Amino acid sequence: MKKVYTVIDKSGNKPQKNGEIAVIREERRRREAFLTRKQRRKRQRTIQMIRRCVLSCLGVLLIVFVMTKIFQKDENPQAVQAEKSTSTPANMQELEKKEEGFQQKVIEHTPDYQVDLLTPNPYSRPQMALEEIKGIVVHYTANPGTTAAQNRSYFEGLKDTHTTQASSNFIIGLEGEIIQCVPTWEVAYASNERNIDTISIECCHPDETGKFNDDTYRSMVQLCAWLCMKFELNEESLIRHYDVTGKLCPKYFVENEEAWKKFKKDVGTTLADF
Ligand SMILES: [Zn+2]
Repeated sequence: MKKVYTVIDKSGNKPQKNGEIAVIREERRRREAFLTRKQRRKRQRTIQMIRRCVLSCLGVLLIVFVMTKIFQKDENPQAVQAEKSTSTPANMQELEKKEEGFQQKVIEHTPDYQVDLLTPNPYSRPQMALEEIKGIVVHYTANPGTTAAQNRSYFEGLKDTHTTQASSNFIIGLEGEIIQCVPTWEVAYASNERNIDTISIECCHPDETGKFNDDTYRSMVQLCAWLCMKFELNEESLIRHYDVTGKLCPKYFVENEEAWKKFKKDVGTTLADF
């Protein structure tokens, strides 16, 4: 304050006083600048604090929102489960009824066939489980005039002769007789890479043309339609050995594409009548 009085001294000794005034002014200017900076910093700090608060609040809200969603998710399955458990008896009854009806239909349309399973052995009945039944493969025996029983004996004999690996789930004979040699849930050695997911049917034929007689044909249609129904397949699931490996089997259906198409159509018609 003393310096202020010096400023307003009227002695006229200006140069010295002016220097002091300049210093004071400079000091004041610096002080004001300092205060301004301080205020600005304070304002900035306040803004920063508010921003942090807002961000924290948003973060908390987000966490609460996510947690709510998680708990909702946890609750929902219980609600669904509860709903299910209340409606299950009715559904179960309906399903059981449907299944019963289906089984009844399968029994009703079962063709006459003889179960004469091969002795388990690595050459014709390896007792390997089928992965899934995706199709039915039709074959011809390539042995004109032989019966279903003779072909079965050939497969059975492989356990002793070890000449090759061959078999079939079913054989259909010249009189329309059907013999089951391998259960449908077991692999038969007939269709190469499709042994694992198909059922095979060997069909007897009277001569070299490979054409099936009417009795054999009728049983082929019946058996194929029944297997399609039982395993929830359709006529499009029928394939020839030829379709797997290109082998001329069943000869007549490979050489006569129209006959093969007609056969599939006949199976489809029979299936629709079940
Ligand atoms: Zn074949």
